[in-house]
Formats: sequence, C-alpha cells, structure tokens
Amino acid sequence: MSCSKPLVDAFQRRISYLRLSVTDRCDLRCTYCMPERMTFLPKKEVLSLEELHKLGLGMIERGITKIRLTGGEPLVRRDVIELVRALGRKLGDGLDELTLTTNGTRLEEFAGELYAAGVRRVNVSLDTMDPALFQELSRRDRLNTVLRGIAAAKRAGLHVKINTVALKGLNQDEIPFLVEWAGTNGHDMTLIETMPLGEVDGERVEHYLPLPAVRDVLEQRFTLTDIDHSTGGPARYVRVEETGGRLGFITPLTNNFCASCNRIRVTATGQLYACLGGAEKVDLRAALRSDAPDANLAAALDEAMRIKPERHHFRIEEGAAPAQPRHMSVTGG
Ligand code: SAM
Ligand code: SF4
Repeated sequence: MSCSKPLVDAFQRRISYLRLSVTDRCDLRCTYCMPERMTFLPKKEVLSLEELHKLGLGMIERGITKIRLTGGEPLVRRDVIELVRALGRKLGDGLDELTLTTNGTRLEEFAGELYAAGVRRVNVSLDTMDPALFQELSRRDRLNTVLRGIAAAKRAGLHVKINTVALKGLNQDEIPFLVEWAGTNGHDMTLIETMPLGEVDGERVEHYLPLPAVRDVLEQRFTLTDIDHSTGGPARYVRVEETGGRLGFITPLTNNFCASCNRIRVTATGQLYACLGGAEKVDLRAALRSDAPDANLAAALDEAMRIKPERHHFRIEEGAAPAQPRHMSVTGG
C-alpha cells in the first residue's frame, strides 16, 4: 500500500486499532460463543501467513498503531508465531503495541516466544476457576491447562489481563472471588456482557447479566474508585482498593461505547467489518488476491472508512434472532 493517508471515518473518528483474526477455529466450545457442532471454514478460504503479514504492514502504513491477534483461538493456528515475529519487527517503527486475546490453552507452550517477539500484554479469557463449571461452559476439561498457561505467561514477563463474560446463574456468584483472585495475582480484569452474535445451542438471554447490577454487588464487598485508565478499548475502569487491581466493565448493551470507537476488525478470510455489531464490510482478501493489491487495498480501506456506521444497535431479547448471524469467533470480539 503506497498511500499513507490516515484512516478517518465519516464521523471523524481516527482508526488506530486493528483486531485481526488469524483463524476461526478453536479448541474450546464456549456455550455463549458457538454451538458444539460449529462449522469451521475450509483452510483455503483463510488468509495465508504472507497475506496476513502484508495486510498488517499495509494497515500500519495507514496509521494503525495497535494490532490485537485473535480468533477463534489464535494460538491453534500452526504458523501464528511466525506472524507474531514478523509483525513484531514493526514495533517502534509505526506499531506501538502487538498483543493477542487467547483462551490460554496453549500459552504454556508459547509465552516465551511471544515475549521474545515483542508482545508484552495478553488478554486471557477465564470465566470460572471451578473445574466443573469450566467444563460446562467451555465443553472441555481444560481449566488446569489454562491456569498453567497464565502462570507461564506471568513468568515470561507478559502482563496478563483476564477477560470474564458475566453469566447469570453460571459464574455470577463467583465474580467477586475472580475479582479478588485477579487483583491479588497482579492481573487486570475486564468483565464483559454477553453479546447477541451468532446462533448458539441455548438461549443466550437466559444468562445475560447486565454489568451495572454486577457492579452493585461488587460494591458491597469492595471499594471501587473510577479511574481514567484506558487501554484504547471500550472498557470503563475502576480501581479495586482492597487488591490494588484494575477492573474494567465492557457494557455494549447497557451503555454503548461507539462515539469513541477507534477500531476495525478483520476476519481470518480478510473481511473487514467496520463495526462489531453491524454488517458493513469490505473484502480485503479480494483486494489482496487481485492484480493490483496495493491500490485495491488502499481503495478498500477508504471504502471501509466511508461505510463505518455511527453506532451498533445491539438488543438482547428472548426469542429474537442474534443481532448478527456471525459468531464472535469469526470477528474475534
Ligand atoms: N479464543 C480466544 C478467547 O476466548 O479469548 C479469542 C477469541 S474470543 C471470540 C474473544 C472474547 O470474546 C473472549 O473473551 C470471549 O469470552 C468473548 N466472547 C465470545 N462470544 C461472546 C459473546 N457472544 N458475547 C460476549 N463475549 C463473547
Ligand atoms: Fe473459543 Fe474463545 Fe469462542 Fe471460547 S470464546 S469458543 S475460547 S473462540
């Protein structure tokens, strides 16, 4: 991409954060994320390592300063570490941060290599510390593997933020314990409301837990002080005075965060979604595989800026279809 015009959308929001999904596959089957019998994409539809690298470089040239690799589970992609190394070379040269969101099952294996490639922070999803509930929620018996992964990441020097989806009647009563555990172990933590993305086996609304109610419960036990901390994402942070830890709330349903949106998402097949909750997209894979990839990528990115909507329109209601048919594992959250 030769054009280095910054990415600014029709609402004058400067886009500097790319969430890049490297695979739609996953070794867990979290019930709120996907059905047990999830259909995954044929490999040929997924961008190659070279295509992902080219895309990343092109985005950095257009002013993307933060890249988060995600999935599906990014660490189940065989060559992902090569991509991390290749993009890591741009740190300090256009790229300020390279990070990833992972379920942690392969962190024990990869933590050292991630650190060596320049990664300093990772988000690890952990909804419970109860082995039976972990098995129920993720449909796999992997809690100890994840906990070993978190410990290995910490030893390697990675800062681990814990992401927890708040689920009514499931991990609801455990949330204060998780907050305490994260804080006393030096992990920041973010609580997330479940979002209506893609069909799952049950009714998501049954377990939808609005975070303002969670905050009220936490305040009976902890002193929460609002702070200005920002990681470039939509979370609103508090400090938990008793542990010194930071706790973020991502509340797409109760309080939308669109006005300050600085991000775009690209799926593993190179579809750039301008909004997590919208259908607006451009096809970067077609551009990359065309006769004039540089010019066509530049044009596709301009088009993405033109179509990025002002806000999402999530609602979660019994019996209603998901806001978008695609799963979170497609756009990577
Ligand atoms: N597999 C990795 C992981 O779990 O961290 C990365 C991809 S996963 C789709 C990213 C995040 O999205 C995870 O924290 C997961 O809990 C969250 N997530 C998945 N489906 C969701 C949904 N429908 N609503 C809210 N969060 C969801
Ligand atoms: Fe896999 Fe992450 Fe979805 Fe769980 S939330 S099924 S770990 S992609």
